[in-house]
Amino acid sequence: MIRGKFSGILYLFIFVPLCIYAQEADFETTEIAKGVYKFRWQGHNTMFVITPKGIVAFDPISADASKTFGNEMKKKAPGLPLIAIAYSHSDADHATGANALMESMGVSNIEIIAHENAVPHIIKSADPALPPPTTTFSDRLSINFGGRIIEFYYFGPTHTDNLIIPFIPDAGVIFAVDFVNHDRVGYRELPSFVFPEWFNAVNELLQIPFDTVIFGHGGNGDRGSIQRQYMYYNDLKTSVTNAISEGKSEDEAAASIQLKEYSHWGQYEEWFSLNVRGMYRQISTK
Ligand SMILES: [Zn+2]
Repeated sequence: MIRGKFSGILYLFIFVPLCIYAQEADFETTEIAKGVYKFRWQGHNTMFVITPKGIVAFDPISADASKTFGNEMKKKAPGLPLIAIAYSHSDADHATGANALMESMGVSNIEIIAHENAVPHIIKSADPALPPPTTTFSDRLSINFGGRIIEFYYFGPTHTDNLIIPFIPDAGVIFAVDFVNHDRVGYRELPSFVFPEWFNAVNELLQIPFDTVIFGHGGNGDRGSIQRQYMYYNDLKTSVTNAISEGKSEDEAAASIQLKEYSHWGQYEEWFSLNVRGMYRQISTK
């Protein structure tokens, strides 16, 4: 057994540096398709795409994350300039950090793409770390970056009124943030979710010929992941609608609805009954 002074020294020289390393190393960059990289920072994901013109980056995530994000881009694509940033939506925990990202890549005033509805939210937040977009669109935008095309879709409100879905056609990859996840229930009381519009948007999303999904949180998925999300929210909505028509209160609905077929999904234990509450509030106020 190691005791006293020696264990203290062991702690200082082995355990403490290991912990610091583990904290600092809580990110990873993975190539999902040729020149399409997912960057994970703690619980948040974003991506970047290498094009003949330079790098297109998506959500900067935060001022802290974006510095590491920039370093990772420089490692994977040395010497290539950052030419554009696209915000998936206006929520600060995904869109913040564009200035720090540009600074770490040694560029300034590059194109920032977002949905037109994101602008008032971003201006209202008045956060210098979240600069407003320079390019906006309403339904669909297609940009050819020197031969590699990136398409941006907006199918109406899903989670916020401005969430866009970027699609890289030559890689079959979409980036879908917050409104869907891979075999995971929704976040807590489904803040910023918009039903029933969400269902129309997910149906339209399935018209895009994608194969792989990079989500804003958690592991990657495919077309089946999106279809299962549709079924989950549809089952949730049906159960809550039935509970309301039986005269159940929000508390009673949260206590009685279980949807056991999803109990193996991520965050079910923590968030499922909160999802019931969120859906209950949405349906009963409409
Ligand atoms: Zn969000």
